[in-house]
Amino acid sequence: MPAHALALLAPIRSVLQLWRRSIQARVVIGTLTLSTGLALLAGWVMLRQVTDGVLDSKTDAALSQAAAGFAAAQSRLDSAPDIDLLDVGSALNPLLDVLAPRSDAVDDYGIVALGPASLTGSAEEGGVLEAGLRFDAEASIPQDLLEKVRSTEGSWRAYTTIFPTASDSPTQPGLVVGSQIRVPPSVDQTSGRTYALFYVFPLQEQRETLFVVRGALITTGAVLVLLLGTIAWLVTRQVVTPVRLARSIAERLASGRLEERMHVRGEDDIARLGLSFNQMAGSLQSQIRQLEELSRLQRRFVADVSHELRTPLTTVRMAADVLHEARPSFDGATARSAELLQAELDRFELLLTDLLEISRFDAGAAQLDLGDVDVRQVVSRVVEASAVLAADRGSELTVILPKRPCLAEADARRLDRIVRNLVVNAINYGEGREVEISVASSPEAVAVTVRDHGVGLKPGEETMVFNRFWRADPARARTRGGTGLGLSIAIEDTALHGGRLDAWGRPGVGSVFRVVLPRRAGGEWTQPPLPLEPPDVDGVEAVGAPYARLSGSSEASR
Ligand code: ADP
Repeated sequence: MPAHALALLAPIRSVLQLWRRSIQARVVIGTLTLSTGLALLAGWVMLRQVTDGVLDSKTDAALSQAAAGFAAAQSRLDSAPDIDLLDVGSALNPLLDVLAPRSDAVDDYGIVALGPASLTGSAEEGGVLEAGLRFDAEASIPQDLLEKVRSTEGSWRAYTTIFPTASDSPTQPGLVVGSQIRVPPSVDQTSGRTYALFYVFPLQEQRETLFVVRGALITTGAVLVLLLGTIAWLVTRQVVTPVRLARSIAERLASGRLEERMHVRGEDDIARLGLSFNQMAGSLQSQIRQLEELSRLQRRFVADVSHELRTPLTTVRMAADVLHEARPSFDGATARSAELLQAELDRFELLLTDLLEISRFDAGAAQLDLGDVDVRQVVSRVVEASAVLAADRGSELTVILPKRPCLAEADARRLDRIVRNLVVNAINYGEGREVEISVASSPEAVAVTVRDHGVGLKPGEETMVFNRFWRADPARARTRGGTGLGLSIAIEDTALHGGRLDAWGRPGVGSVFRVVLPRRAGGEWTQPPLPLEPPDVDGVEAVGAPYARLSGSSEASR
């Protein structure tokens, strides 16, 4: 779209946005539109009535004046048998003297008397005589009115435009009333000769009156519409302002500022809304406080219990070690019990360690021990340490590492724990199939992905896996020895670095877990260096397919 069209669209867009977002704007625009429509309609009706009224009274007066004039003229002709009918002037002049306006009111109306021929008239047959108002009779008297008057008896009228004789004077509206005047047949030897007499009344005064009325109506209408718009704006402001206030306070409450309240004044509906809002905020605040307190107590309880269990556990562990050492001298069942005791104690210790770690996160006591870490080395170490477990499960570990170091400011111990957890999970839930571990870096971030081709994740489980003690299949997980806390600790560790841990999975296809750490702890990145969703999966099982291999810069190891 060209730039000028875009520039034109911009104000339309902002008006539309205002319309969508502001009730006040909608009410004011609606009121303005409706009241403009109403004002136009009312103005039109009133103007019509005033016009009719003004014109009707003038027309009535004009018609009765013309009727009297026509009657006077006819009786004058009837009673003057001596007039020379061929001399239009001598026949009509006395009439005009009678009918013409007085000399001080020449502009009130004009009279045109026509001879029998035409408006322009020929020398003897026709002729035009005028009195009173000066105007161009030929242009001002409508042709059809003239023909009607000539051909029919009775008086006729029409509205017209009066053209002045002087070309620089303005035209004006007018009313023309015309009638035949017959010379009595006994006198008129040629018989049937008629004259036409026209009254022309200017309506300039009425037009000016109507102009004034129209101006007054437009001004009143505009003022009324503006007033209505202003009233609508003021009234809606009274309602909208508290609503906007409530919205901003609700937003602040939502952002965690639980002590925010609305300012309540008066007892009206808005004040009651404010009261209810404040009650709601108060009740939410106390419930949240209660829950926070409860959760704090629970965390405290877990932390205390874990601590308290450590001492007896150490003693039990020492005793169990003694039993384990001495198991060759035991009979079969007792030796087996000593082994079981040792294995369960391992699990118990693992669980306690994880619980204590979680407690530290909850208490906000977890600290990063930052240093420059080459993520490739961390991954290689973890893979090496997991080789036995992988071999045990029959999984092949494939590692894809870039040639150049992938340095990040990180806590090596925590990063090791994150990667180890992901790799061990991939082996545990990978159904003995290949597990691929990839590392890549960008100027902003470093990423590690661990992909397996095992049980995968059902829709929705991508987020649930990070919940504490959540397991897709608790029975199976127990046999694998996990505590259900591994991923929750991993996500806390990642968050501590300002990084992200995400999961992707499809049932039966496999899972991908990706950890992204910023190069500098707490730094930002826009594009993760590795994709989460494998590019080779589109609903078809893709077991064993290489994933995100970095061409030319990778080495694979087992
Ligand atoms: P644990 O493995 O000890 O049970 P985790 O927190 O590490 O605890 O994992 C939680 C749950 O997430 C696991 O029980 C399992 O159901 C699921 N999960 C984790 N990793 C994978 C994976 N790679 N594939 C499928 N499911 C997984």
